[in-house]
Amino acid sequence: MRHFLLTDLEGPAGVDSWSQTRVEAGPAKTAAMALLTGEVNAVIEGIHRADPRADVLVWDGHGNGGILGGRLDPRARFLPRPTPLREPLADGVDALYFVGQHAMAGTPGAPLCHTYSSRTVAEYRLNGRPAGEFACRAALAGELGVPTVFLAGDDRAVAEARALVPSIVGAITKIGRGVEAADHLGHEQSCAVVRAGAEQAAGLARQIAPLRLGPPYTLRVEMLPGHGVDGHVARGAERLSDRAACYRAERMWDLPV
Ligand SMILES: [Zn+2]
Repeated sequence: MRHFLLTDLEGPAGVDSWSQTRVEAGPAKTAAMALLTGEVNAVIEGIHRADPRADVLVWDGHGNGGILGGRLDPRARFLPRPTPLREPLADGVDALYFVGQHAMAGTPGAPLCHTYSSRTVAEYRLNGRPAGEFACRAALAGELGVPTVFLAGDDRAVAEARALVPSIVGAITKIGRGVEAADHLGHEQSCAVVRAGAEQAAGLARQIAPLRLGPPYTLRVEMLPGHGVDGHVARGAERLSDRAACYRAERMWDLPV
């Protein structure tokens, strides 16, 4: 099977400050990347325990880079930024895993929660419901028949995933206490939880249903104060107000998620 890992830098144990994730480079960012890379390697190991012939792809989903490619388990293939997410999906994958994931913007008590841009986006709504990166991308994969089988991240991110995919395997790396506060597992312990969860998820992958929302699709984007929607309108969204715009499409594939 081909297992596709979508990674982000805000969700590993040990990461709960924007100063670890927003900067382009520096010791705090590198340390956070090492924590994420360790958890990603734990996922790769867990998958291989369940599926020794696994083909694992790792896609770096963090805007300014979240993975230390040189430290990645060499059994996996690394897709660094800025490889478009659609490329590997179009090539065909069998199961989707989220590693290092955070909750959607505005989630109470959720560390480093945001939706795509932590600086500009107030809320996304997909088919009328508040949606984070998880919902958008799980639905994108689901439309292609790909199940989302695993999420590693804080407890709020796991709850957000379970609300949409009840049988998803969740691995909780930390308990959220605020936007920049969490009770963390130690790195070794977090890797152990993530490894066990990924092994379980890989074993269950064929039994977990893809998330299919069904057309027609609407994606309503609301920006934070001070940020407009000109960019979204230029990409085909209808302007609803100064800070809100809505995309409409018959396929998830045609939405900017
Ligand atoms: Zn993110």
